[in-house]
Amino acid sequence: MMSNPGQTTHGVLTQYLITDLGGVTRGRGAWDTSDAPLKASMGWVPVNQFITPFDSIAPNPYGSHGDVRLRPDLPTLTDITLPSGRRLRFVLSDLVDLDGTPSALCARSFLQSALEQLEARELQVLASFEQEFWLERAQGDRPTPGFSYQRFIRHEPLGTRIVQALSDAGLEPETFLPEFAPNQFEVTLSPAMGKTAADRAVASREIIRAAAFDADSSASFSPIRAPGGVGSGVHIHLSLWSLDGRPVLHEAGAPGGLSRLGAAFAAGVVRHMRAICAFGAPCPLSYERLKPHRWSSAYTCMGDKNREATLRICPTVSGGRPTAEQFNLEYRAVDATANPYLILGALIHAGLAGIKSDLPLPPLIDHDPSTLSDDELAARGIRRLPTSLPEALLALRDDEAASSWMKRELLDAYLAEKEHEISETEALSVEDLTARYGAIY
Ligand code: GLU
Ligand code: MG
Repeated sequence: MMSNPGQTTHGVLTQYLITDLGGVTRGRGAWDTSDAPLKASMGWVPVNQFITPFDSIAPNPYGSHGDVRLRPDLPTLTDITLPSGRRLRFVLSDLVDLDGTPSALCARSFLQSALEQLEARELQVLASFEQEFWLERAQGDRPTPGFSYQRFIRHEPLGTRIVQALSDAGLEPETFLPEFAPNQFEVTLSPAMGKTAADRAVASREIIRAAAFDADSSASFSPIRAPGGVGSGVHIHLSLWSLDGRPVLHEAGAPGGLSRLGAAFAAGVVRHMRAICAFGAPCPLSYERLKPHRWSSAYTCMGDKNREATLRICPTVSGGRPTAEQFNLEYRAVDATANPYLILGALIHAGLAGIKSDLPLPPLIDHDPSTLSDDELAARGIRRLPTSLPEALLALRDDEAASSWMKRELLDAYLAEKEHEISETEALSVEDLTARYGAIY
């Protein structure tokens, strides 16, 4: 192409993003001009799916060999400008092979295939990732009371800017609140169908981090900030709908308000909870959060309006939309070190397994399960969730069904990355872990 010195080419820098198996969003940018508004794909390498959060590479079969592409998904194109002028223009991408077919290593395509299996049963999932995070300013902050208005005010105008940016990006923010622990906040977004829900989780984290940075503050989604403290969770709300848009999880008067289909779906999730921890609580620090009495969930159980239950039946309110449309389940054993596509895909597979076997509704626990004796727990089929990442990976390997949900290459890559992450961190104290994960997530 002829260049014309001194003449400005009009274009925009777009980042093509992928969220890797460790839940870190990475990517590369291209100068997109009006003749070519978005590239068809961008180069990437398979070995990148083996990078740990600490930027070392787990043992893998690819090494320096091979190529994959980042293929942008146009509806996810986001273009917003923050108050300082910083521009966020990014598009979420699938990992595809050179012939354009989904790469076996693509987490987003794993979710897509789980959604297709739901669709084969004439079902779709409506979901929202409710996310807690920490806001910290360079000059430090004195602690403010949990849920307090003064906490919100001390961080203004950042809260308003965050919600504005999320809204500008089309993510439909619903609530923004000071949470219980010092410097902790929470944001919720409107639920969205299928992949869009996971896309929103990815995009919102990056936007919140960027809005905080833009205001000389910093946001972290790390599962815990202080050893022994309250954690920051990601609670995934989900409900099932027919393809023609009818809510199918609820049945008035049935136990827990769940339809037979809803009960079977929930039972599948409960049955595979220990294995699912490998995807939902996927870093060593995750297990500092998953402890009893923190409302973070610690047992393989389900409860009606019980925040110590890993699967919670959420309340509905009168006077609003029909109950069946409000009715949803909340899966709580997740934090933001999880890849949103993998965890949502795993939950769908678990629920589908429950539907296929027409499992009955598990016992509903309406109090803290850690107060039950071992015999009482055993009688209800309740087990402790894994207490470490190695235990969660073992639970996944031991669960034949759960380890068949994803293609072998993806499962092997995931386990290799996680095992390398364990070996990199096993000598660290909890204090060191909180510092290291806090800086990355
Ligand atoms: N911070 C708690 C967690 O670790 C959740 C508190 C809540 O119910 O909002 O998941
Ligand atoms: Mg909360």
